[in-house]
Amino acid sequence: MLKAIYPGSFDPVTNGHLDIINRAVELCDSLVVAVARNSEKKNLFSAEERIQMLSSCCYKDNNKIEIVEFGGLLADYCVENGISVIVRGLRAIADFEFEYAMALMNKRLAPAVDTVFLIASNENSFVSSRIVREVVSLDGDVSSLVPSCILPLLKKRLRN
Ligand code: ADP
Repeated sequence: MLKAIYPGSFDPVTNGHLDIINRAVELCDSLVVAVARNSEKKNLFSAEERIQMLSSCCYKDNNKIEIVEFGGLLADYCVENGISVIVRGLRAIADFEFEYAMALMNKRLAPAVDTVFLIASNENSFVSSRIVREVVSLDGDVSSLVPSCILPLLKKRLRN
């Protein structure tokens, strides 16, 4: 039984994240989508809100996917929960350096756990949560970049 984890901030979830989730779930028996608490980052949405967005809009019917809140060391979480694969998405070369260091560190902390990278699909390769937040706050249209159910929440939070 191969258990994988896809950790991230998902602040907010984008179609790029959903693409990775949909592809990753086909490669494993179960996928934990781990929403980072990120106390050092200033998030637009609380961890509870980000979990709510992911679960109510996207995955309420898929029993292979579990959405959890997560703080602390990812490597520890993997070992404690029998997770053997960390999934990350790679967009451009800009992602690579950070992801490379992170994967090596996680390998050092938890040698039995491997990181697997899925290359972003063409249409999502420029999409990031940060760019989505920026465009919405300037009244731009992001309807093709995020799940439709989170659009009203985004606009409400960023335009008030
Ligand atoms: P973090 O705060 O760790 O950057 P994100 O939620 O932004 O968290 O991203 C989580 C993971 O999803 C990272 O591996 C990131 O590279 C990947 N990712 C983010 N946006 C996309 C996208 N548009 N296409 C593919 N992967 C993505």
